[in-house]
Amino acid sequence: MGRIIGIDLGTTNSVCAYMERNEPRIVINEEGGRLTPSVVGFTKNGERFVGDIAKRQMLINPDATIHSIKRFIGRRYRDATNDLRLVNYQVSEAPNGDCAITVNGRSYSPQELAAMVLQKIKKSAEDFLGESVTEAVITVPAYFTDRQRQATRDAGTIAGLDVLRIINEPTAAALAYVHDRKKASTIAVYDWGGGTFDISLLEVDRDVAEVRATRGNNALGGADIDRRIVDWLLDRFSSEHGLDVSQDKIVMQRLRDAAERAKLELSSAPTTEIHLPFLVSDQSGPKHLQVSLTRATFETLAEPLFQKTVEECKRALLDARMDVRDIDEVIMVGGSSRIPRVQDLVRELFGRPLNKTFNPDEVVAIGAAIQGGILEGEVKAVTLLDVTNFSLGIEVQGRRFARLIPKNSTIPTQKAQLVSTVVDNQRTVKIHVLQGESGDARENVSLGEFELQNIQPAPRGVPRIQVKFSIDANGIVNVSATDLRTGVADEIRIDAPTGMSRVEIDRLREEAAQASRDEDEGREFKVLRNDVEKELVTLEGFLRENRGLLPKQDIFELEQALKRGRMALLKAADGRNLQSLMGYLQRFHQHLTEKLEQQARLH
Ligand code: AMP
Repeated sequence: MGRIIGIDLGTTNSVCAYMERNEPRIVINEEGGRLTPSVVGFTKNGERFVGDIAKRQMLINPDATIHSIKRFIGRRYRDATNDLRLVNYQVSEAPNGDCAITVNGRSYSPQELAAMVLQKIKKSAEDFLGESVTEAVITVPAYFTDRQRQATRDAGTIAGLDVLRIINEPTAAALAYVHDRKKASTIAVYDWGGGTFDISLLEVDRDVAEVRATRGNNALGGADIDRRIVDWLLDRFSSEHGLDVSQDKIVMQRLRDAAERAKLELSSAPTTEIHLPFLVSDQSGPKHLQVSLTRATFETLAEPLFQKTVEECKRALLDARMDVRDIDEVIMVGGSSRIPRVQDLVRELFGRPLNKTFNPDEVVAIGAAIQGGILEGEVKAVTLLDVTNFSLGIEVQGRRFARLIPKNSTIPTQKAQLVSTVVDNQRTVKIHVLQGESGDARENVSLGEFELQNIQPAPRGVPRIQVKFSIDANGIVNVSATDLRTGVADEIRIDAPTGMSRVEIDRLREEAAQASRDEDEGREFKVLRNDVEKELVTLEGFLRENRGLLPKQDIFELEQALKRGRMALLKAADGRNLQSLMGYLQRFHQHLTEKLEQQARLH
């Protein structure tokens, strides 16, 4: 068995870690970075890039640069409409109601795009570790629903990874803490990243980490803060020039970029200059944007968002029946937790200094790697008692939601429910499974419907079918049913909960593997073309310098070879042709050099 990697698949950046002699370490990617931007970029001619290179083309090619994929993964389109204004690319509703992202005329599921990021991470890990990597633990926000978890796991599968466990990001951070400290305490993990916010309260011991409560918001992140600055910039620009530029995609991307940069600067400086020359132009000439943004103004703009996170913390304390005085340590996770005002608010709320031992960008991946180490048996087992963040239940008469497993139940957990028929000789019963807190079934997230079939004919109310709902350690829901009269048990798969069947996932996995092989070949091919080009330039120089010394026949042959070489590059000859051309050019070059040397010796 190879090594199990831990992946923090972030909205903005992803991080990968592994265990080396019982200690977690971060994988350095091909660009030499510890963070890989979770961005996939496509070029017009079908090339695909992931990470830093993709992020760099965001400004010039915003429609085909896909970021924040995590905001759409496993979500129904109708639930994600608020997030559309945070991105420049095209998101629409797939036939199954999920989100679909269209790039250069092709539609992708968020799972496929997330798989491209995971594939890059897998490859970086393999290059860095010098071994094949097939198994991973992937983290998700604690507030991810069952559909989002399933979709994340499917993305891993498409990327060629066996996803051994999905764990909650704050729980992963707590694992890093347990591994490091080994001291019993009650900790709060405040996790605010680019797209989501989570707060978790945990009791950790030397070998048990028990989540007492978790709260969060799947659509509240750094990008929302940036958006507040963008709106402010749009206002400033409009009052100065009387122009609304919010419909121009390139302009919006520049504003978003500048807003994020300003935000980052304001984490260490009291004021920042935003300067965007030539933002647009009209008959009267080019228009520039030049404003300074102070930390105080920034804090006023973003305060409502900061307060939302504080409210969630208070609710989590209530859920856990804890008081702020019960918390021994506050661990800050995620890039947005670096904002000074946020740190002040959290410090004030908990009434204690923040624990700054961990790098907020890396601690989640480190926890995931430790979980991998535990699964491998390399790291001393820490029993993780995580909780489910949504109530699980079924729809009953009158569109009401009957709660079977309440939120904050420790997972894994299960609950059995007896189901019967309502008319005589009824042969099937339909069950609609949902997650959420509303008493109205329509307001909760539907996980899917299934039908119990082949019920023995009997008067109504007589059949007794036990339906077992369980939530596994990944937070993923499973359902099984047993007819108590016949004892026949049935494993039930909730109908395509992420809108993707096993067959489709397998097909995408094969496609992704092929694309990766093609990319490798493409890369080798580029190197080869480059080598041929270099050899041609060298030979052209050689000919210029030695024309007077070479016999006519050789000059003729060399000119022919150079011409053939140029043609081959122009006509994009295939790899094998280029390879043989390269060999020929090198041999010819050597032959001529030797000839000249011989001549020199004779004279
Ligand atoms: P993550 O999802 O944890 O990678 O967090 C990324 C988010 O954190 C992005 O929205 C970043 O703009 C934001 N971020 C990173 N560093 C800082 C910082 N120093 N100050 C404010 N926000 C930051």
